[in-house]
Amino acid sequence: MSVLDRWEPVIGLEVHAQLSTESKVFCGCRTDFGGRPNDQTCPICLGHPGVLPVLNRRVVEFAIRLGAALGSSVREESVFARKNYFYPDLPKGYQISQYELPICEGGKVPFVLADGTRRTARLVRIHIEEDAGKTIHVRGRNASLVDLNRAGVPLLEIVSAPDLHSAAEAAAYLKSLRSILRTLEICDGNMEEGSLRCDANVSLRPRGTTDLGTRTEIKNVNSFRFVQRAIDFEIRRQAAILSAGGEVVQETRLYDSGRDETRSMRGKEEAHDYRYFPDPDLPPLRIERSWIEAVQRTLPELPLNRADRFARDLGLDDATARLLSSERDVADFFEATVEAYGGPARTVANWVKGEVLRALGESGGRLEDLAITPQALARLLARVDDGTISASAAKTVFDDLIAGGGEVDALIESKGLRQVSDEAELESVARRVVDAHPEEVGRYRAGKKNLIGFFMGQVMKETGGKANPKLVRVLLERLLT
Ligand code: ADP
Ligand code: MG
Ligand code: ZN
Repeated sequence: MSVLDRWEPVIGLEVHAQLSTESKVFCGCRTDFGGRPNDQTCPICLGHPGVLPVLNRRVVEFAIRLGAALGSSVREESVFARKNYFYPDLPKGYQISQYELPICEGGKVPFVLADGTRRTARLVRIHIEEDAGKTIHVRGRNASLVDLNRAGVPLLEIVSAPDLHSAAEAAAYLKSLRSILRTLEICDGNMEEGSLRCDANVSLRPRGTTDLGTRTEIKNVNSFRFVQRAIDFEIRRQAAILSAGGEVVQETRLYDSGRDETRSMRGKEEAHDYRYFPDPDLPPLRIERSWIEAVQRTLPELPLNRADRFARDLGLDDATARLLSSERDVADFFEATVEAYGGPARTVANWVKGEVLRALGESGGRLEDLAITPQALARLLARVDDGTISASAAKTVFDDLIAGGGEVDALIESKGLRQVSDEAELESVARRVVDAHPEEVGRYRAGKKNLIGFFMGQVMKETGGKANPKLVRVLLERLLT
């Protein structure tokens, strides 16, 4: 019997998404990742006395965009609050955040489990806050360094209701949220660079009950794999305690990926008392209804809606439709190719799923940096359809298009890939092949029909792969019977 027969996991995620604005939330400093330490700072984000924060309009727009996309209600008035604590990477001694009146409340995030099941998790709130700097503990030396480039970088904190019930659901929720953030073009979702960070709150309750159990919070888990592992570990740890009649202690824990375990970081008695109060330097944020409506009108189609449309209108299976719509640039490329091609969307889907995504993975870059265009891919597929080239020759042309672009027909000619469809020419090759293999002919005629593949392979070899395979098959079948 598994512990999960007795206990139901309950999970709520707090996700910090770093916004891809050019400048910070309350000053004009740049936000690029990986700059020289402390280069991207000014008296405002360094917390010098007497300076005043000025709110970045883009940050507000991005928050509205996310709230509108997830069905949250966007408050016409929200309030910035000071969250006070002492830490070396927080020069002001407080972080500007939102507390009682966040910019967005409610809404929900749709997500999909590995078996295709659709779920949603409700949101509690989305609020704007500034990031802190980074403390770097120098190994082997008794020293810590502080880099304040990240101090004042804008974040949205997205807080889910405790609606998730397994590590897999939590990971699927996070994946979907990442895909939505990227589609909205408000966060690059790069977990290694810390653009997307997740705190997981985990508790258990006896199955069939509805009260929430005591939770622990696992801080700053920075990959999908680690989110799953950390939650799974925590579920097992809590189940062992509860099954032995013990009590879970409410505390903050850290996940150690090296040992695959969570460890206590601070207990409730050391929990922070942040002494939140409205920031007197920033007036309440008032947003006109008309602005919210304008943002709403320009929202892109969300990934799962797009997947549904691909499945419904283009006849793709669900998994393929989702694969092709989770990244906006891939989905745009796919749709533009379908449009230019005019043939079956499924043919395009196979090429994008196979070849384009493979090339993209190999390049490690962005789709727009590959030299191939949707028009070129569409023309390539048309050349396979009309018999000018074989599918395998098309792969060769495809690799050239990826590497250097160019014109499909010119590439076919310059590489000599034009398929041989001349019946007389192919028939003489086929006859030669049949004559050269009397033994195989005998077995074929005795019923081993799959030897056709052997004969086709021989003809292809003789013609340097340029023979039209459909025609070769017809000719061989005629000669062999
Ligand atoms: P805090 O501000 O102390 O972090 P919140 O009440 O705002 O606490 O909750 C933070 C997150 O914890 C939310 O995502 C919420 O869904 C989740 N959460 C709250 N209580 C529980 C619980 N008993 N079990 C699991 N998750 C919980
Ligand atoms: Mg919390
Ligand atoms: Zn600054």
